[in-house]
Amino acid sequence: MIELDDVRKSYGALPVLKGITAQVRKGEVVCVIGPSGSGKSTVLRCINGLESYDGGTIRVNGRRVDRADRSIRAVRVQVSMVFQRFNLFPHRTALENVIEGPIYVKGENRREATERGRALLARVGLAGKEEAHPSKLSGGQQQRVAIARALAMRPDAILFDEPTSALDPELVGEVLGVMRGLAEEGMTMVVVTHEMSFAREVADRVLFLDGGVIVEEGPAREVLGRPQQPRTQDFLRRVL
Ligand code: ADP
Ligand code: MG
Repeated sequence: MIELDDVRKSYGALPVLKGITAQVRKGEVVCVIGPSGSGKSTVLRCINGLESYDGGTIRVNGRRVDRADRSIRAVRVQVSMVFQRFNLFPHRTALENVIEGPIYVKGENRREATERGRALLARVGLAGKEEAHPSKLSGGQQQRVAIARALAMRPDAILFDEPTSALDPELVGEVLGVMRGLAEEGMTMVVVTHEMSFAREVADRVLFLDGGVIVEEGPAREVLGRPQQPRTQDFLRRVL
């Protein structure tokens, strides 16, 4: 579903992605781990066209991701993104945040979008919070609204960029629980995370990124349990 072939990107003179080749199959959960500044967010942002890239190719469902092309809108609908800092509209209610995309981007009927939005909020454990504004919700609740908003677009895949890094520790579990449920239902997910137990239990595969290259990848059990590369071993020793 998502294919990266020798993807390269620089910010000015700074090379950030130095030839990333990876595939994500339908229904797969891939966790991306690696030190700060290794290019994890940049990879996600390139996949859904929030950033351009300089070399190589990214394809989603066989279609080339090209920021300069009108088709980028279709890619953004196919691949939703959940950010570290939620990015909810502060002046809109939880429900309004969820139904905005379906109505204004996909042209769905307001009544149907509203009904589905309520169901999605219930699915992430937020029944009764439809009319709450983000400032009245905890970080964990806001992130669950953001996940409902991503689901509302009926995406083929969801990209998560450190979805629990901004949360107080006691709120991390409720968000990971929702993500775990999505994984069990077969959602295709790419998850940048420092939650190694989540990666170990939920990921089909783990990619370890360092300095803009994939240093090691494989089944979660192997990469996290028996890392082969010294850089992976060193990283895991520091985070575990
Ligand atoms: P990670 O998510 O792994 O922490 P990023 O993808 O955010 O890493 O960043 C990779 C590198 O690119 C870092 O050195 C960062 O400082 C740099 N970088 C990220 N975004 C920008 C930007 N908009 N302009 C310039 N440099 C950037
Ligand atoms: Mg990042």
